Amino acid sequence: MKLPWLRATWQALMQAAQNQRLSHGLAIIWNPQLGSDRLLDQLSQWLLCQHSEGQMKACGQCKSCLLWHAQGHPDYHRIGDNDDSSIGVDAIRQLQQRLSTSANQGGHKVAVIAEAEKLTVAAANALLKTLEEPPAATTIIVASRRYQALLPTIRSRLQYYPVTRPGITQLAQWLTQYGEQPVNATETLRVWCDAPLTALERLGQGTLQSANSMAGVLGGETPDTKSWASKEGALGALDDMERLLRDTLCYQQTHNESLLIDADGLMQSGLVGDTREPVATSALNDFLQQCHQLRARLRQQSGLNTQLAIQQLLNQLRQLAQR
Ligand SMILES: [Zn+2]
Repeated sequence: MKLPWLRATWQALMQAAQNQRLSHGLAIIWNPQLGSDRLLDQLSQWLLCQHSEGQMKACGQCKSCLLWHAQGHPDYHRIGDNDDSSIGVDAIRQLQQRLSTSANQGGHKVAVIAEAEKLTVAAANALLKTLEEPPAATTIIVASRRYQALLPTIRSRLQYYPVTRPGITQLAQWLTQYGEQPVNATETLRVWCDAPLTALERLGQGTLQSANSMAGVLGGETPDTKSWASKEGALGALDDMERLLRDTLCYQQTHNESLLIDADGLMQSGLVGDTREPVATSALNDFLQQCHQLRARLRQQSGLNTQLAIQQLLNQLRQLAQR
């Protein structure tokens, strides 16, 4: 499956490499719903490949590429992908230790820190030291949902590559192609531009159009509670709530509607408004944390009453919106 919205980022990375300007410290937006893990994997394989110089793709045949495909390249290290709520200093120290030894395959080493917004301050400071004095032939990729959430000192050491999301037209074309049914480019697709992979799943289940967005529900529309009975439906509702919260945080910080994923939805939700007190940032972050914990429970536990869990979160979100 091709993910055409990732192409611009890939080209920017390759352009920098061609001009010998690709930094040893990279920041890339991490959003699994956009398929950004695909980008991270492609870049890591390319960096490790023994024949990638001057090429836009890893060769797929050298020893490094074969090790990569066997999913066990000894010079590739990825941390941050677990349900822990933070990445602590010990994880960074372990990573530093692994990076300090010479490359097993005599080439490049790659470290990926996924969900880097979970770095504790101590961990971020430890990472900063490595970024300031990087081991030889090593690339460190800091992948975060929110680039702005990283410490300014860390950001100053990284070359930033945003990941663009598809526009409505591109999303409709892509859904039509991979969903094998015609999808029209209408405004209702806008909420899915940040989560095309979920949209494709929903299209397959026939629930793409029927599910009201959380923004709409806060604005008075009836929630499709039945869809929360499945794990997938509950995860989709969580995605939706997190998107809305991230938009709220972004709007409160920037007051710039063009930076939002769903500006109309946010205004409809009542979470922001010119005449209202802003919701406390700490309350929004607490809520995001709860979304994160529920996501972890959904992954780990079976037999959870997912409908009830989402309903409870929604009730809290309503209280925030109606403050
Ligand atoms: Zn190769």
